[in-house]
Amino acid sequence: MKLKYFSHAAFQITTDDGKIILIDPFLDDNPTSPVKSDDVNADYIILSHAHGDHLGDTVKIGHRCNSTIICVHELADYLIAKGCIAHNMHIGGGYNFDFGRIKFTIAHYGSKTPDDQYAGEPAGIILSICGKNIYHTGDTGLFYDMKLIGELNKIDYMLLPIGDNYTMGIPDAVRAVEFVNPAIAIPMHYNTFPEIRVNPYEFKKKLEAIGKKCKVMEYGEEIEL
Ligand code: MN
Repeated sequence: MKLKYFSHAAFQITTDDGKIILIDPFLDDNPTSPVKSDDVNADYIILSHAHGDHLGDTVKIGHRCNSTIICVHELADYLIAKGCIAHNMHIGGGYNFDFGRIKFTIAHYGSKTPDDQYAGEPAGIILSICGKNIYHTGDTGLFYDMKLIGELNKIDYMLLPIGDNYTMGIPDAVRAVEFVNPAIAIPMHYNTFPEIRVNPYEFKKKLEAIGKKCKVMEYGEEIEL
């Protein structure tokens, strides 16, 4: 399985049998993404919430690739009304897809579509694929129930925001990693806009000082999980 980072909260997972899964594909209007929406394909698109920097180019990609979009119910209804294929789920629920299992968790945040439609609650995403557990926290502040998420799931890779202003900043993100105790933490949601400018290597240094592993992914970098 491969994990590719497009910057912000946008990732691509390619499974061992070649299925392509995008998470929060904010590409065309993302000043830091090395690719545009026409450059990617998706069998599935998983959304943490509906803000423009996460919903991104989902409708465009979904139409072109006939992607199944996996998200909370209210957002799924919005996407179905736009002619997309959606699998609706909700927080606390898991479902076995042909590529693996997806479970939605809480995230402390907001959610509405760029055209001001109600989009339900924001979520975090636990992906169990090819024998690994990946926890994409979505946009969120720090919350103590992350400890429970870590107790219930052996997380191999935790993808979490560190950019501050809209989400956790570095000190809270370090605490989040302590709560979840993943094998490796991967920072996201930073340096896309002036308000969220931070140094990811400061995050890495702080984690390493307490014995935790961190991988800072470059924009466009793909790693084997
Ligand atoms: Mn965001």
